[in-house]
Amino acid sequence: MHFDANRSEIEEASAKAAYTTVLSIIPTACMRPSSQTSINKCGIATAALVLLALSTAYASAGQDSTPGIAQAENVVLISIDGLRWEEVYSGIDPWLLNHDEYTKHQESMTNRFWAESGTDRRKLLMPFFWSTIAQEGQLLGNRSLNNRVNATNGHYFSYPGYNEILSGFGDERIDSNDKINNPNVTVLEFINRIPSFAGKVAAFGSWDVFPYIVNESRSGIPVNAGFEDATGDNLTTFELYLNKLQGQIPSPWTTVRFDAFTHHYALETLKKDRPRLLYIAYGETDDFAHDEDYDAYINSAHQTDAFIAELWNWTQSDDQYRDNTVFIITTDHGRGQKRDWSGHGSDITGAENIWIAAIGAGVPAQGELSTDSQSFQNQIAATVAAVLGHNFTSNHPVGPPLDSIVNRD
Ligand SMILES: [Zn+2]
Repeated sequence: MHFDANRSEIEEASAKAAYTTVLSIIPTACMRPSSQTSINKCGIATAALVLLALSTAYASAGQDSTPGIAQAENVVLISIDGLRWEEVYSGIDPWLLNHDEYTKHQESMTNRFWAESGTDRRKLLMPFFWSTIAQEGQLLGNRSLNNRVNATNGHYFSYPGYNEILSGFGDERIDSNDKINNPNVTVLEFINRIPSFAGKVAAFGSWDVFPYIVNESRSGIPVNAGFEDATGDNLTTFELYLNKLQGQIPSPWTTVRFDAFTHHYALETLKKDRPRLLYIAYGETDDFAHDEDYDAYINSAHQTDAFIAELWNWTQSDDQYRDNTVFIITTDHGRGQKRDWSGHGSDITGAENIWIAAIGAGVPAQGELSTDSQSFQNQIAATVAAVLGHNFTSNHPVGPPLDSIVNRD
């Protein structure tokens, strides 16, 4: 889209429109006197909204007619549902490990995951994160170093978090986990509309709400989620085997399958259909936490790290993806601490705290970020697009790309 009018006039008009949008979407709770905690949360949320509105004003004035230089040809976006920054940065939690109610097999969990220092414990829990990603990529959100990443949606549960990750916008309207098609255009849909990416975007999730979050029916992006089998007329032997096993291994939950199915369906599609933007949403960690089963939550976090290592190692062994792919990994929400660890939501302190990791082509190898800074969940969508050389814009405000991940050289 091209504008003939004077650019500064357009920017001024866009900025005004964006500012009006901001006023209309600042949560009403933020506008009335409340507890100190709420004021702080609202302060962050409001600052984030203003920031992203300004970025929208800039982005919409620029439009997408002149995409930037692609940093990578492919992106794999991954989320691990409700995995706390506490475990990512400090490994197994001593209070929860030593609590009989939450950890059933304390001796074996101690043998496998315990070390005195958090920096040693995190290597035991997530060896891929703390070897390969720490050396070659970046980890944002270690709050003990004042490096903070927050969700801005105010709800701090799954659908609002996934919408914020994918549409770059903490949308007040998305206030339930109901199976309602997302009114927002996600970055998956935005990228899929670009001719060179059409049909090259795919999504996999363990939770059966993902077809609605991605709005599969409108976007046309294939979403394999919940207990769906692999479908199509060119199924591999392994996909047929996965379909058989999926029907034979009962899940503990009614709406979420084991992540091993999600992972292997996604990996088969990566090998077979070669998507350029692949989204994988692992889900077990959140459900084991709600079950107050800390053993299983920890085992799942450890296994998901291994799944991501397998994906990374495969892409690095393949001609299309090697040195040409960026992985961005995050979570939809945090959780509480101590007895509140199993829950999350607007009434749980800490549920707004998340983390982001990235590795791959052009991602500066900064390791664990230790600068005093604040990033937001609403910046992930535009980061995905920027890595692929595009400016993500929508009919709502969008958080700006993360400076540390996007290589502007
Ligand atoms: Zn969740």
